[in-house]
Amino acid sequence: MTRTIAKDTVSKSGETVKLNGWVHARRDMGKVTFLDLRDRSGLIQVVLVPSCLDEASKDLVKDIRPEFVLEIEGEVKDRDEKTINDNIETGKIEVLANTVVIQNPAKTPPFEIDKDTSVVNEEVRMKYRYLDLRSERMQKNMRLRYNVNRIMREFLHEEGFTEIETPLLTKGTPEGAREYIVPSRLHPGQFYVLPQSPQQFKQLSMVAGFERYFQFARCLRDEDQRGDRQPEFTQCDLEMSFVTREDVMDLVSRLMEKVVKEATPEKKIAQVPFPILTYAEAMEKYGSDKPDLRKDKNDPNEIAFCWIVDFPMFETLEDGTLQAMHHPFCSIHPEDKEKFMKGEDIMNIRANAYDLACNGYEIWGGSIRIHERDVQNRVFELLGLDSELIQSKFGHMLEAFEYGAPPHGGIASGQDRVVMVLANEPNIREVIPYPKDGNAKDHMMDAPSELPDKALREANIQIRK
Ligand code: ASP
Repeated sequence: MTRTIAKDTVSKSGETVKLNGWVHARRDMGKVTFLDLRDRSGLIQVVLVPSCLDEASKDLVKDIRPEFVLEIEGEVKDRDEKTINDNIETGKIEVLANTVVIQNPAKTPPFEIDKDTSVVNEEVRMKYRYLDLRSERMQKNMRLRYNVNRIMREFLHEEGFTEIETPLLTKGTPEGAREYIVPSRLHPGQFYVLPQSPQQFKQLSMVAGFERYFQFARCLRDEDQRGDRQPEFTQCDLEMSFVTREDVMDLVSRLMEKVVKEATPEKKIAQVPFPILTYAEAMEKYGSDKPDLRKDKNDPNEIAFCWIVDFPMFETLEDGTLQAMHHPFCSIHPEDKEKFMKGEDIMNIRANAYDLACNGYEIWGGSIRIHERDVQNRVFELLGLDSELIQSKFGHMLEAFEYGAPPHGGIASGQDRVVMVLANEPNIREVIPYPKDGNAKDHMMDAPSELPDKALREANIQIRK
């Protein structure tokens, strides 16, 4: 007999079915035992009555405990009016079992999977992530994540984008964070850098003539784990040729409207079209470049987007050095270009950059880029790079701009944050399948961890004591 998943039993009253799944809960009522069996589609009630079970199955019943994996054959029956359970999709029926096979027993889990696991110690949840993920809320969050990605991918496909994979083993790209480095075995003393974002590759894909690129990109940043950060996170990363910032903002506005409508139809967007504020206005009015514009912050279904534009191009770090606020590939606001080329009033020069904020989080950020060699070179110079360093770090970009680089711009989402907001979760770890803790540790895999001497020697690594 082929397997039936729980939710499909609803239309099979009177038929015999085979179910596979996990024991979610067990209730003993005298001679009769009720099981809630859980599979990917939800829960179904199974009734174990000794007189209906074959001999082998009868003996097993006493052993069955939560999280055992079972195969059950039985008849789908309509429930009595009085025992209908409106809380589950299969609440109008139940399965009266004839045979029960234990496909795998289970130890008692370290926490209860049929309860809300958000209150459980987080280190324990992370160590047993595969159990935490079985819980209803986490299953829902992962499916929401998948749905959001799917809707975005379909939308971008319809809009003529090509999904392009870019390398993980590459060279540094400045996005303001420390980079993870990977020693090269074949080139002793040399290193790859894991990308903070595919920024350079997506711009080079515009030089390559794709005009519309996107990718669900993993980004890696070796930062101290301030607040709700993860060493690796996901972006929906995109780039477009021959566009203005209004074109990019319009595309992402339509994309987010579609995502909210289809993935979380219970939510209401506060204002469409999304309001647009300059960085200066946002800072003056709200003291933040990601203001929370919800009217009722206690309404879990209110979503308030707002665009922030005209960010300063440069900022100064604590040690006084000049840094690009977004990254050095942002183009200069047309009104400020003359000042920029003359090197005047640098701190008031605006970038052609834009962010989309949502309920107080920055969820997308991007810019129209520089596509001319001399302008890009000028930014690097202002950032204090000498010509030798510019050549060794970015020579390939500058050269590419000399081979007919089209005007282009793009943007990237903080995909984990997008899903977090839509799931009404307080942090991104609740929507990342296998996150790391605040010290960048993976408790389930026990990573990072030491390596045997042989592996280190092959990678040309000597550990400094
Ligand atoms: N690469 C940028 C980032 O990671 C996004 C962009 O400018 O498109 O924030």
